Amino acid sequence: MTRLLLIGPPGAGKGTQAVRLSEAYGIPAISTGDIFRSNVKNETDLGKLAKSYMDAGDNVPDSVTNALVRARLAEDDAQRGFLLDGYPRTVDQVRELDEFLASDDTALDAVVEIVADAEETVARLRLRATEQGRSDDTDEVVRHRLEVYARETAPIISLYEARGGVVKIDGHGSIDEVTDRIIAALSARGLAVPVQ
Ligand code: AMP
Repeated sequence: MTRLLLIGPPGAGKGTQAVRLSEAYGIPAISTGDIFRSNVKNETDLGKLAKSYMDAGDNVPDSVTNALVRARLAEDDAQRGFLLDGYPRTVDQVRELDEFLASDDTALDAVVEIVADAEETVARLRLRATEQGRSDDTDEVVRHRLEVYARETAPIISLYEARGGVVKIDGHGSIDEVTDRIIAALSARGLAVPVQ
């Protein structure tokens, strides 16, 4: 049973690492960005609401995002643990997650921050823009997303640091190198990859 958070700026490689860590630890990777994108694609009410915020590079309102994550964490597969990618992103979302975990009498095992400099993350997002055509990967929107990250999300890292630590991982290098670093750092903290 492992409960992890993955934090890092846009383009740090969170989504890519989340998929691999989910396999390694046998827990679902829950990406709020992916859930929103699939709702946009399927033109659900949630997708219609989220789209304008996403296209502008703004956070979807906390009330909407919190309700979505609460429902997702209540699903069966998340009872064995989970990896949250892209949530929490604001101090309000941290409070909501705290409340949810407390009501379940559980706690996070680790908060992992993927650290990468802006030059690297912007280059990766440019590449992703050409490969995937995400509407929020244009230069202008990326700039705004980085500002939103610095303003809304960076403070939550200090908050978790004050509570006992954030596992900081160098996000430069190959995908495999970064995965290996995360797994090694988590094992050093007693969170070994289960034998499957
Ligand atoms: P991501 O895939 O994590 O880069 O998220 C893409 C977009 O989805 C963000 O720019 C936001 O518009 C929205 N989003 C994803 N996660 C959250 C969240 N936790 N809170 C608010 N908005 C979010």
